[in-house]
Amino acid sequence: MAELLTFDIGGTKIASAFVRLPEEGDAPVVLLRDEIPTRAAEGGDAVRERLMEFAYQQLQLAGEHGIVPRGIGIAAAGVPDSKTGEIISATDLLPGWKGQQIYQALHQVTVLPVYMVGDVVAHGLGEAQYGAGRTSRIMLSIGVGTGIGGAIIIDGQPFFGAHGMAGHAGHVASPLGVGVLCSCGTTQGHIEPVASGTGLATLYNIRTDGSQVHNGGEVAALANDGDETAISVIKDSAHALGVCIGGMANLIDPDGIVVSGSVTKAGADWWSALRIGYRESALPLLRDVQLREGELGGDAPLIGAAVAASQTIN
Ligand SMILES: [Zn+2]
Repeated sequence: MAELLTFDIGGTKIASAFVRLPEEGDAPVVLLRDEIPTRAAEGGDAVRERLMEFAYQQLQLAGEHGIVPRGIGIAAAGVPDSKTGEIISATDLLPGWKGQQIYQALHQVTVLPVYMVGDVVAHGLGEAQYGAGRTSRIMLSIGVGTGIGGAIIIDGQPFFGAHGMAGHAGHVASPLGVGVLCSCGTTQGHIEPVASGTGLATLYNIRTDGSQVHNGGEVAALANDGDETAISVIKDSAHALGVCIGGMANLIDPDGIVVSGSVTKAGADWWSALRIGYRESALPLLRDVQLREGELGGDAPLIGAAVAASQTIN
């Protein structure tokens, strides 16, 4: 089966690889993985230009290695329109990214068919098809990193919703977030600003009345060293997120829940509080649905972009 050229466009880097999707049962093969800095601050036009150059380079490289890709799959930050290739929404992390016409840009470099989905959807698709969700039919994927995102994958297909907004798991209500500014602009109490990696730092700094830490990794390190505030921040934050995931499960009734991202490395206390919060909130029939850790790591969005493209191209 031929390879797909894939890109994962994030706030800090653009990753790329050629992905060969296997027949059922086997693992996908990720070839010639490479990445370049996004340099988001230079603006959306510059990022688009950089993506075009990167695509050109990768296609040259493919030729040198005898790879003949049959299409391009893209996992993009923000909310892309998969039909038109336009980025219809993006946060301040990527200024000028909204409005970019990605299909148009790539068609200046190659005649290959291109298909793009959101990076969180791609991540979920990858895990659903080849990772921790491969035995699930209705999978809820939650990514907990710098922010919090999610995707709902039903029978191997992403559920996008009426506005392409389905799965925005970071923007569900949580009392722990009341008074803390969310990336969407509200201070009314969303889970993201207190349970993402940045959120762990925010919560720690609020409770210590200072601004000592900058990210979730620092909070996890402090907790490891026995810092009691850090330990309580990790437990409270994971518990609140678990309660939210329980509520999401009550709404969509999944048979698998996969949790991925840097914050899932915060340790056993984080996972245990997450699972306790989940069980407290989930309805009786859903309490035993496993919260599994993602298995594909940083390759998940590339693999998922290949899955999405292969479902659409041809
Ligand atoms: Zn929000």
